[in-house]
Amino acid sequence: MSQKADIVTVKQNAPIDAHSQMIALLDQSTAYEQENNLKNALESVNKAWDLFQQSRSEHDALKAQLLFQLSHLHLKRQEYDKLTEYSEPLLELSRKLNDGEKEVSALTNLAISKGVQSDYKAAMPIFVDALEKSKQMGLRNNEANCIINIGNIYANLFNFEEALDRYKTVLTDYNDVITDDTRIIISLNTGNLYYAIDDYQRSYNYFKQALDAALALDKIGLATRTYVLLSRTYLELNNLSEAVICTQKAASMMDDVKRPNWRPINFLNLAQIDFLNSNTEGGYQRALKGIVTARLLKDDVSELRGFKLLSDIFKKEKKYKLALRSQMIYSQKQQDYLNKQRDMHFLDFEIRYALREKERRIEALTKENRYQAILLERNSQIEKQNEQLRQANEELQQFAFITSHDLKEPLRMIGSFTQIIEKQYADKLGEDSKSHFNYISEGVSRMHGLLDALLQYATIGKVDIEFEPVEIADVVRKARANLQLKIEETDTNVLCGEMPIVKGVPSFLVQLFQNLISNAIKFRNDDSRPIILINAEERKNDWLFSVEDNGIGIAQEHQERIFIIFQRLHKRAKYEGTGIGLSICFKIVSQLGGKIWVNSELGKGSTFFFTIPK
Ligand code: ADP
Repeated sequence: MSQKADIVTVKQNAPIDAHSQMIALLDQSTAYEQENNLKNALESVNKAWDLFQQSRSEHDALKAQLLFQLSHLHLKRQEYDKLTEYSEPLLELSRKLNDGEKEVSALTNLAISKGVQSDYKAAMPIFVDALEKSKQMGLRNNEANCIINIGNIYANLFNFEEALDRYKTVLTDYNDVITDDTRIIISLNTGNLYYAIDDYQRSYNYFKQALDAALALDKIGLATRTYVLLSRTYLELNNLSEAVICTQKAASMMDDVKRPNWRPINFLNLAQIDFLNSNTEGGYQRALKGIVTARLLKDDVSELRGFKLLSDIFKKEKKYKLALRSQMIYSQKQQDYLNKQRDMHFLDFEIRYALREKERRIEALTKENRYQAILLERNSQIEKQNEQLRQANEELQQFAFITSHDLKEPLRMIGSFTQIIEKQYADKLGEDSKSHFNYISEGVSRMHGLLDALLQYATIGKVDIEFEPVEIADVVRKARANLQLKIEETDTNVLCGEMPIVKGVPSFLVQLFQNLISNAIKFRNDDSRPIILINAEERKNDWLFSVEDNGIGIAQEHQERIFIIFQRLHKRAKYEGTGIGLSICFKIVSQLGGKIWVNSELGKGSTFFFTIPK
């Protein structure tokens, strides 16, 4: 630690014992902080901390104060490693001292540092704890802070619904405690989210709100940012003249505020305006600048937009080779971006699952003390229904997400490339080929329509289902019959134990067994004859079924993932499939009120278990 003269001096006539010296340094640190001299503030408290450690003091309250000031300053200086380093012991100590305020602060700081370092999985539960604790202590300011941060994490995980929900909560329920800046930033974030899901009208509304507030309060930096974003939205709304006005305003203010983050978007706005005004040369130059700055800032969305724009510019100039090349880069980047989105989506799933588990555990503990047995029973039924509903919703969300993105994007790519090729060879194409191109476009737009319909179907929900007594032995017979050819081809030995009668839906149950048997055959071991054992065991409240194979097995770390739609562990070339089979099994079992899971060891085989309530 550097020891500059002005730092070491403690107040005149300072008491010389270590304890007073530390307190004096702490005061000094606070004083520096008030003057906004963070560097000196930090040096003072660091010095006090050194003294504290040297003195081997056991004075916990002072220790907590020092740690508090240390983490507080590192937060302000955006030094997140240090923030973690001091927040962790502060958390422990504040709990020991029963100091709720410091505990909340430590939790929040810890979560912020994890969040900033993109460790959302660690950050989220800590924010939730901090929020809970803040609520208990009536620290509304901190509550709002936690909710905004939780919203930001959801936004980074591409879970826009949850993010919007959090922002809205803060604006409506915490309006009295948040600052003007926070309010404007929330409007900006919200506008951005709507932009990302192509809802430009709403995006416009929020940006406009942010702009009005920023101008009224003379917040130049925020106003510039908003002009840039608003212009981008205007362009999507085909309002060129307003887009031009915003871009000019932003450009005139941009240098004043020197915030590089908005440059790529601004360059691309300018490029798009040039392009729309048929100034392709200007558009080209600015699109390039946009791409370069976007890449520097790791702004994926702008980089993507840049390549799309380049491709459009080249198309307009009839430079088809270049157009094709830009389009290809665009497609590749789009794919990368989608993959990232997909990863985040699954991370989001995992995080929310973990949070729910935690919630459930806490609930169970409280219930134990509070309710009588009957009440508990009734609640658990409702809980089960809620859980089923939640699961269904979540799956639906996943489905909607994957359908809209994963399937539509390649389709869009087909559309774009066909268009380019068609234009490139326009003068060489005969009537026949032209009509073939028409077929392709028609097919593409029909498929877009189908996907939309599918999405709608998934979102509407299902019709009610009727349960009836079903003889499982019969179900297994039917499933086997459907797979007869495969069973013979592979010489699989399917052995079925005694089967009960359960309440269910026959077609669902056949599908369930058929999927499990078919997987057991497909993922067989090359060296041994496939054997499948099907068994049922009666238990107190349900039947436990098992489908066991001697196939290739599934590694421990994948055993949960395989029940999620479109999740596969192998390349299509090795094992055919869509990755839907097990997610259907999961859905069927859930609808019947049971659970499904797998026990497996790689190379040794798998046993799929599922339950059906009596
Ligand atoms: P698909 O079979 O179409 O790939 P599923 O949803 O049925 O999709 O299965 C998902 C993944 O789970 C499979 O790709 C495979 O990796 C794994 N899997 C399923 N059943 C078995 C099994 N019996 N043995 C080994 N792996 C399995």
